[in-house]
Amino acid sequence: MKRMQRVAGAVVGSAVGDALGAPFEFGPPGAFSARFPAPGVGGEMCGGGGWEPGEATDDTQMAVLVAESLLERGGLDLPDMFARFQRWATSEPKDIGLQTEDVLTNGMPWDLAAAIHFQVNPRAAGNGSLMRATTSAVHFAPAGPEATVEAAHRIAALTHGDRAAWEGTAIFHELIRRTFEGTDPLGALPDILALVHPDHRGRYETVLAPEWHPDQSTEFNGAVWPCLGSAVWALRTTAGFEDALRAAIDLGGDTDTVAAVTGGLAGAYYGLDAIPTRWTQALHVPLPGFDGRVLHLPDLLRLAQRLGG
Ligand SMILES: [Mg+2]
Repeated sequence: MKRMQRVAGAVVGSAVGDALGAPFEFGPPGAFSARFPAPGVGGEMCGGGGWEPGEATDDTQMAVLVAESLLERGGLDLPDMFARFQRWATSEPKDIGLQTEDVLTNGMPWDLAAAIHFQVNPRAAGNGSLMRATTSAVHFAPAGPEATVEAAHRIAALTHGDRAAWEGTAIFHELIRRTFEGTDPLGALPDILALVHPDHRGRYETVLAPEWHPDQSTEFNGAVWPCLGSAVWALRTTAGFEDALRAAIDLGGDTDTVAAVTGGLAGAYYGLDAIPTRWTQALHVPLPGFDGRVLHLPDLLRLAQRLGG
């Protein structure tokens, strides 16, 4: 498969998962299949819960902000990225994570805001840095494993003081990078886990093990460990892009983010052509705070090309 198929598949796949999962957020397990029993039949990109059909949420909105900062600044410019996040956070996005909102609006400088939040709120390993990581994973993949992991840590740390969130984001970055190389990402997990800080390796070994099932989660899947574990489980236990996303959304809970993470992995693995056009037609990404801009599929494809071309 051509590299560009995988690059575009990752960026578009993540956005599709986000928009497809959003109407089912905080719903029960099995809600998607109950409503759409037969794959491919009946308007799955349905909207609801305040979302238009095909409308991407904060996950993809922040991923676009990451991408545009990387492209316009010619690389990692953390103060610039943080300022874009702040501009977006104060422009009334329809959804924003509690922790992300607090960090971006507490008035602290970019290099202290998340760390100070973490001192006061020690349980801060939400999935909010993992959810937006596809674009940075694409951008840093050609630079190799060290740059990939380092960038994941630093971008995650803008909003998440808990190193567990950095490590989960870095594992995702590495899974994408290895998939682009044509390596089986699941087979690469032992090597990827060896890159994780020893203090955090054990919990990721648990949720990324072949025998792990999302039912065994010890936290809500809004936390970084079960979110990443569920996305990898969805990729491992299905045989195509559509089925992986159906499995992810059917887990219930934080469905937009679990599906966004799954969609990034599955899009990289199966490529852009595996993403149904009926899911990309209505896809759109509003960018609150950025002059009313709304990105559509051609814009996301262009972004993917510039990031990974
Ligand atoms: Mg969201």
